[in-house]
Amino acid sequence: MSQLRESATIAASARARALRAAGRPIIDLGVGEPDSETPAFIRAAAARAVEQGATRYTATEGILPLREAVAAQASTLAGRAVAPATVVVSSGSKQSLFNACFVLFGDGDEVLIPTPGWTSYYEMVALSRARPVPVAGDRENSLKVSADALQRAATPRTRGVILNSPCNPTGAVYDECELRDIALVAARNGWWVISDEIYDRIVYDGPAASLLPHVSPDRLVLVNGVAKSFAMTGWRIGWCIAPVDVARAMTALQSHTTSNAAAVSQHAALAALTQTAQAADAVGAMVARLRERRDAAMTLLRRAPLPCVTPAGAFYLFIDVRAAARDSATAGDVVATRLLEEHDLAVVPGSAFLAPDYIRASYAAPIEQVLEGVRRIVGLCD
Ligand code: PLP
Repeated sequence: MSQLRESATIAASARARALRAAGRPIIDLGVGEPDSETPAFIRAAAARAVEQGATRYTATEGILPLREAVAAQASTLAGRAVAPATVVVSSGSKQSLFNACFVLFGDGDEVLIPTPGWTSYYEMVALSRARPVPVAGDRENSLKVSADALQRAATPRTRGVILNSPCNPTGAVYDECELRDIALVAARNGWWVISDEIYDRIVYDGPAASLLPHVSPDRLVLVNGVAKSFAMTGWRIGWCIAPVDVARAMTALQSHTTSNAAAVSQHAALAALTQTAQAADAVGAMVARLRERRDAAMTLLRRAPLPCVTPAGAFYLFIDVRAAARDSATAGDVVATRLLEEHDLAVVPGSAFLAPDYIRASYAAPIEQVLEGVRRIVGLCD
């Protein structure tokens, strides 16, 4: 615990909120959540559920209709039957990821993490007493890792890999071929694959490929949730699909830590997954707004020019800011601090994702704020 660091993304956001509360006109491009409200049909379903008694404990692994809905969608994606018994609902996908690491990994194990990667993977693996092994992504390929790079980083102690596509912080999306190659390497080595697909509906060039059809169900833990796609970050509902024995172990772990995810939130998530026409409209409208902001922001960055991964999914700009702090090994930290303290702009330093040359700016904010934020970044880096 003495080595555990607070989540840098949450810390950046808390600092921005504190400065704003103190009267500073902060533009916050640090937070990792949609700026829209949870769609009305979901809020209405939750209100109805409360009136109908969704106020008590549920089964630890979640209410059956929600697990059935998750399993039904996964069956379509996988092209095979996925049983509800393999689904465990938890308090956010973050808890599913933690449970998975805690159940699958332990002392002496190594876990490969494509890097830059979401800040909590490294800490969750370490909390499970295994060793996180960052595998550097290719600057020429949107900072994605290849199957070969994973193989090169492997040792006899390697037990698993954590994939995240669409990726936070880069917005990169792995294509079908890249995922198939990674699945093959994992199968050859007998690794566990944890696939975090939380941004799967926030994509700009057609549907995101999933690892579900490519990895054997007895080695895969697929993690997803409603937080990002349905603007439901505060409701705290995520889930995993895992082999039955792993799902049971995760349920047992959860039964001693948090029990079930909030009952009313599970009913809200059920509406998001089952009222498909309204859900498609809501997600489509949000993605259209995000695309407009992405395109406008990328136009400014390209004109500067400032190197940035072209985000094909999620809602982040991952910007190379070495030009602004040539002598620093942590250009991202220097630039993020200056942006906040001197220019009233909150972003997250790339060091949070083990990529210290970069900063991450979210474009899930009103377009005028996104563009003003990007102008300040460009101004500082010029
Ligand atoms: N995975 C990734 C890649 C994320 O960016 C986040 C949130 O920032 C999560 C998981 C956690 O999401 P949830 O709100 O479902 O716990």
